[in-house]
Amino acid sequence: MKLRICGAAQTVTGSQYLIEINGTRVLLECGLFQGRRQETYTRNQNFPFDPRRIDVMLLSHAHIDHSGNIPNLVKQGFDGPIFATPPTVDLAKIMLLDSAHIQESDTEYVNFKHAKRGEPPVEPLYTIDEAEQAGKKFSPIGYNKPFEPAPGLTVHFVDAGHILGSAAMALELEEKGHRVRLWFSGDIGRPDLPLLRDPILPADADYLLMESTYGDKPHRDPDEAFDEFSRVVTRTIKRGGKVIIPAFAVGRTQELVYFLHKMVDDGRIPAVPIFVDSPLAVNASDIFKKHPECFDEETMAFMKEGHPALEFANLTYTRSVDESKALNGRKEPMIIISASGMAENGRIRHHIRNNIEDPNSTILIVSWQAPDTLGRLLADRAPSVMIFGEKYRCKAEIATIGGLSAHAGQDFLLEYANALRGRAKQVILVHGEEKAATILKDRMEDWRVAPRVDYPKLNTVLEF
Ligand SMILES: [Zn+2]
Repeated sequence: MKLRICGAAQTVTGSQYLIEINGTRVLLECGLFQGRRQETYTRNQNFPFDPRRIDVMLLSHAHIDHSGNIPNLVKQGFDGPIFATPPTVDLAKIMLLDSAHIQESDTEYVNFKHAKRGEPPVEPLYTIDEAEQAGKKFSPIGYNKPFEPAPGLTVHFVDAGHILGSAAMALELEEKGHRVRLWFSGDIGRPDLPLLRDPILPADADYLLMESTYGDKPHRDPDEAFDEFSRVVTRTIKRGGKVIIPAFAVGRTQELVYFLHKMVDDGRIPAVPIFVDSPLAVNASDIFKKHPECFDEETMAFMKEGHPALEFANLTYTRSVDESKALNGRKEPMIIISASGMAENGRIRHHIRNNIEDPNSTILIVSWQAPDTLGRLLADRAPSVMIFGEKYRCKAEIATIGGLSAHAGQDFLLEYANALRGRAKQVILVHGEEKAATILKDRMEDWRVAPRVDYPKLNTVLEF
């Protein structure tokens, strides 16, 4: 049996790993590669295997860098089932539609420019219709329910504590009497974040295929980060401004809503109106509410005290464009959470534009921002930024709060791998930039977590 690293090799996006066992091909993940536009398009368009020859797919969680190329896989001939946990299935369906919408509008823009230069039009990677077709391939399987997606392969999903529905996978493979246990981490969450249950540590595996995103550093204590968050919000409200928070629609937004609920309840921040203004975030929040079985004990206890999940008096979810625009006309202090998380598209750009020149308001950055994004320019304290083709001076307060990532930091990644010390033969590091993964690899070697720790290149084939 073989494992081929087809994506997220020495980088963090485009997760894809291909297992061959007893003549069957099983694809773990089918993520979008994200980077510069042209390279991105070509990489995502061309799979390093024939999609028609993939028999079955397993998906750890709904994030686009793990799921976002599924509609294209189906478009190019994949016709098998896609197994994932029930919340992942629900989230992936709406996220793929949203991604298709972005693909279509990006292509429209590119084709507008092509037409001006007399160049031929390009096709979107996939359309909304194709994303809908792909949605029909999903087959939900709950946590801790072993199933056999291919002859000789038994899988069970365990909680990864990363986003709603996220799973690690314990795979048992058997070919010609030879048995191997492979543990695939998916994205590893954090043990101490609010809302979701903690990640489960791996048990009994010969090989560990794991992510290494934050392999170079431990995270700060989330309590400290949330203290700072409440101070920023309080001082902005006191001076009569608005707090504008760019946040990923799935995961981060719901975490913030839960946390704001508790802060208002405890009197730590004034009870001003709070808006979640992003159709995807609103849909994702509905899915969170549908799956309270994924919440941690603290959240369950909070709900038992009479607080419904992700709902409270000051909170309004806005769907329509008119509701979103109306927020701009309101002058009282408020908190607006909107997507996208790096302010590259979506309604957040309107809210930033409307508040960036108001010294009473605050743009609050709560996650890592990729180079060249509007979010990154703001976080780097650019004196002015371009939004919708116009220049705006940055007069609002810009606050950045680290330590709220949904990924494990170095300390927990080490603890995770170390759970297999004395049992695993090899740790295979993926989903990490070179610096982070190399530092993590060195630490793992110091700790002697396994006889071998590797950080394979793209298309490396491992034989078991
Ligand atoms: Zn993820």
